[in-house]
Amino acid sequence: MIEFKNVSKVYPNGTRGLNNVDLRIDDGEFVVVVGLSGAGKSTFLRSINRLHEVSEGEILINGESITKAGGSELYRIRRDIGMIFQNFNLVRRSSVMRNVLSGRVGYHSTMRMIFGLFPKKDKELAMQSLERVNMPEKAYMRADELSGGQQQRVSIARALAQEAKQVLADEPVASLDPMTTKQVMDDLARINKELNMTMIVNLHFIDVARKYATRIIGLKEGEVVFDGPVEEATDEV
Ligand code: ADP
Ligand code: ADP
Repeated sequence: MIEFKNVSKVYPNGTRGLNNVDLRIDDGEFVVVVGLSGAGKSTFLRSINRLHEVSEGEILINGESITKAGGSELYRIRRDIGMIFQNFNLVRRSSVMRNVLSGRVGYHSTMRMIFGLFPKKDKELAMQSLERVNMPEKAYMRADELSGGQQQRVSIARALAQEAKQVLADEPVASLDPMTTKQVMDDLARINKELNMTMIVNLHFIDVARKYATRIIGLKEGEVVFDGPVEEATDEV
């Protein structure tokens, strides 16, 4: 569960990225955040796992304040939150397997990451994660040998291997063609249903949002201007 308690974010130059956002996202929801460029979608997502500090208010993750968390607490809370980015954020020269295993890096020392000393159990979990996105046969290819859509599915597998409870996806299909967009969104939807993993996805296009979301949050100039089920969302949100 994610709770925003009167959250505002003002950037150092005075721009208001979020204005008094107060809402709750329950486990298992598929939330799509829509809004024009500059509406605050990225600011909203980045606030959730504290990639930046908010200016006012508080955010709770599964009942714990990430806003007030100290070093080791912050680390622990973030373990539950998977991230998916527009440009995939994979280590391009590493294998797919290594990239998926990096989702478990919080559980391991850097030495393990460098020398590839992962317990068998982790490798099995990574392989199962790749199977869920239909990519097991790509495990030992280099990440940069894959197409854009395939790379995005690797980053989904990385969140699965992390055993994230919530996944934040910032414009995950913005650089993909319509066919690939459908594959990636279908994967997210299937994982949301099968594993009850909460999805919070920023999207440009309301038509894609309609097809997948259980709930739409519309932002405009940092304010929530719509929050409700897909059926009630008009094309303006
Ligand atoms: P979206 O993701 O919907 O395109 P953003 O959250 O990126 O919107 O931006 C919301 C507002 O905050 C915009 O006016 C943007 O210019 C501003 N903004 C975003 N990041 C920064 C930053 N690092 N410094 C100053 N202003 C920013
Ligand atoms: P996309 O339109 O999804 O970005 P690409 O044009 O990047 O697709 O890739 C199309 C196909 O070519 C993919 O199946 C991918 O596996 C393969 N491919 C792309 N780049 C390379 C590469 N550097 N080495 C080997 N195969 C590649």
